[in-house]
Amino acid sequence: MPRATWVIAVLLLLLSPLAIAQTSNTTASAVPTAGASAPAFDVNAAVEAYLAKMSPAQRARSTAYFEGGYWIGLWDFLTGAAVMWLLLRFGWSARMRNLSERITRFRPLQTAIYWVQFILVTSVLTFPLTVYEGYFREHKYGLLNQTLGPWMKDQLVGLGVSVVLGAILVVPLFGLVRKLGRSWWVAGAVLTIVFLAFVSLIAPVYIFPLFNTYTKLEDATVRNPILSMARANGIPARDVYEFDASRQSNRVSANVSGFAQTLRISLNDNLLKRCTLPEIETTMGHEMGHYVLNHSYKGLVMMGVVWVIGFAFVNWGMSFALARWGERWGLKGIGDVAVLPLAVIVFSLYFFLMTPVTNTITRSMEYEADMYGLNSARQPDGEANVDLLLGEYRKMEPGPIEEFIFFDHPSGRTRITAAMRWKAEHPETASPAEMARPFQSGQ
Ligand SMILES: [Zn+2]
Repeated sequence: MPRATWVIAVLLLLLSPLAIAQTSNTTASAVPTAGASAPAFDVNAAVEAYLAKMSPAQRARSTAYFEGGYWIGLWDFLTGAAVMWLLLRFGWSARMRNLSERITRFRPLQTAIYWVQFILVTSVLTFPLTVYEGYFREHKYGLLNQTLGPWMKDQLVGLGVSVVLGAILVVPLFGLVRKLGRSWWVAGAVLTIVFLAFVSLIAPVYIFPLFNTYTKLEDATVRNPILSMARANGIPARDVYEFDASRQSNRVSANVSGFAQTLRISLNDNLLKRCTLPEIETTMGHEMGHYVLNHSYKGLVMMGVVWVIGFAFVNWGMSFALARWGERWGLKGIGDVAVLPLAVIVFSLYFFLMTPVTNTITRSMEYEADMYGLNSARQPDGEANVDLLLGEYRKMEPGPIEEFIFFDHPSGRTRITAAMRWKAEHPETASPAEMARPFQSGQ
């Protein structure tokens, strides 16, 4: 398909200057400060000292885990496309549509019934890969605390969420396609962006609690400094929430999520258990950075551009495929819900190729949040220690192209370099206790 290749090349070309412009400031470098007044602090040596806290065996393990993820990205795409092709080639998609048309004459309900069948069938067909990636492989690397029973329960809850949220998106989307015909894609992209904003609004209150228990953090020695930072940064939060992420894994994380009435500052129990106060503060400074810098809105705008181009590509790809195989697959046109597997193939191809762009969008915002965290919490040594904890599942030292393509957060080396570069200019913030603290693996 030379034309397809051409379209993809143009898309990548259009987006690459944006991506490159962003990546150029997301790679921290330890440029020595000029002049005799520069502090006597060797950034490179400090970075190496932190990196050396992780043993070569620990480093090799996280590298193997993370690099395996590159292949998983490819296998997920290929398996997904193969399953979609099965649904089309053997007429299962057309049969699911026929069944929904027999059940009701109300078209939005037909779309919803088709969606339920579609998500159930594809979840079953891709289950072997899901259980390998999400359960066995995570256990192999010591990154999952769950036994099969609770893990399966989380999967089923996730499936339930997909059934409901997917229907909320797919039903009006197909309504738009039927109403607008070939020019559906701009409105479709706008609808999708509104939907994503809606999901991020309701998620902290209605979705996250389905997987974890959220309680108010009572420990004043941790809560008060966090709330003080929140006030100083103009974040309207009165409480800090703690959630039991240790149910699933030992990974440390936190977030400032939702907006308006659903705004929440949350941190997980792993962060509380495994980290010191300076480490918690720098993490919360990072999360508050996401909020103050309006990353969820900016992310929606940047991803919105990616979505609009994606929908245009899907529109073109579907017309191309429908003209050739539509009749053989029993598809009645672009407004027929049975085309969904075809749309998924074209979409997943697009997003697979867009991986460096979408990763760069998030990675550049993560880098900004790191800078914000350093400036607000002023704990560069705590930051470097947290960066090591994140290195349990993210390769610490990738090459620059590798980081550009595969990293949705900066690598450990990039982040520690940024922290030490900041510390060089703020020598009064040095923490001997943090520097001396050994790296303790949670695996
Ligand atoms: Zn972040």
